[in-house]
Amino acid sequence: MKQSHKRILKEIGLKAAACGLKAWAVGGCARDLLIGKHTEDIDICVEGETSPLIEFCAEKYGAEVLRFNDFGTARVNLACGLKLDFVRCRAEVYAEPGALPKVRPAGLKEDLFRRDFTANALALSLMPGEFFREYDFFNSKEAVLGGYVKVLHDKSFLDDPTRLFRAVRFAARFGWEIEPFTEGLMRDAVKKGYVNFLSRQRIVHEFIKILGESRPYQALKYAAEYKLADFIFKGLKFNAKINKLKTVEERLAYLALLQGSCGAEFAESLLLPKKITALSLEVLKWRKSKAAPFKALSKEALRVIKLYKPGIESFRLKPLFLCAEDLSVLGYSGPALGAELKALAKAQYSGKVRSRRGAFSYIKKAGF
Ligand code: ATP
Ligand code: MG
Repeated sequence: MKQSHKRILKEIGLKAAACGLKAWAVGGCARDLLIGKHTEDIDICVEGETSPLIEFCAEKYGAEVLRFNDFGTARVNLACGLKLDFVRCRAEVYAEPGALPKVRPAGLKEDLFRRDFTANALALSLMPGEFFREYDFFNSKEAVLGGYVKVLHDKSFLDDPTRLFRAVRFAARFGWEIEPFTEGLMRDAVKKGYVNFLSRQRIVHEFIKILGESRPYQALKYAAEYKLADFIFKGLKFNAKINKLKTVEERLAYLALLQGSCGAEFAESLLLPKKITALSLEVLKWRKSKAAPFKALSKEALRVIKLYKPGIESFRLKPLFLCAEDLSVLGYSGPALGAELKALAKAQYSGKVRSRRGAFSYIKKAGF
């Protein structure tokens, strides 16, 4: 961690002490620091009110503050790149499986106990006199350094079945094992249908997080192994080439192509905003038309299609060699012009037409 970032965290700790509060850096950032992975996303857990520390960051560092209507939670973005998520230490009560929990204020230990896995339940103190001291109630350090995913209690997946997806994601990201008892709980949770307690949106949210990993293939493979992939899309097809694409949108579009005739159903089933699935729709539309596109395909679409069909001939992807004006110069108009353009697009896709000149002779042969 950058010294300048450490200094800021130290100053937040000093402010906490001055206000009679206690604060820790917890969860993913403590885990990542332990394995020497760079992180600028810091979750800060506070025993007591978060607002004095949030206001301190806004005043002292001119930070941008996004407050959420949820238990003193706020995202504080600093110009130096640090993203601080403040939250009050809390305990969670799950009234129903899969539903969002009810929360109440709690101490640090209880807060750490509500977390998904032991590896994510480590806290580093920000307080003066013990800055960066580890608070490790649940053998978190051992899990991080030993490399395993382990739940904190045996009701964990019943409380929150999204943790099933989180488990495969962390196992894949870090190359960790899923500890045998946890693995048994996962298989049992899937068999008992806990995933059905989750809304479609929550499942898709986890899927998108998997696609946001630097190597999503490994996580998808685990998801299939644990029979979670079917909840994303029945019979989900995927392969290792997905890792070659860098954005979630491209990875989704690639998967949409891989689902064959179910591609559109796959894309629609995710109920995602248009801007995320637009690329999937673009490549699916191109494939369905079996015709050269009227408008140039986006560079993202070309990247996805070329990965899906390596060696695909460029004439199939290029925009139509002739446009409406070319045909109108030749004397076409109205529906005849439209029909001819469509025929030309098919001919170009099939390779009968491979250049602008070829397109003109095709039109002439076609009878004008
Ligand atoms: P990433 O590097 O992907 O951000 P992370 O561990 O920081 O990993 P987040 O989703 O950012 O994960 O969540 C921050 C912390 O909140 C986690 O480390 C974990 O302690 C806790 N957490 C998040 N989601 C859950 C959950 N579903 N159940 C329990 N604890 C959770
Ligand atoms: Mg995080």
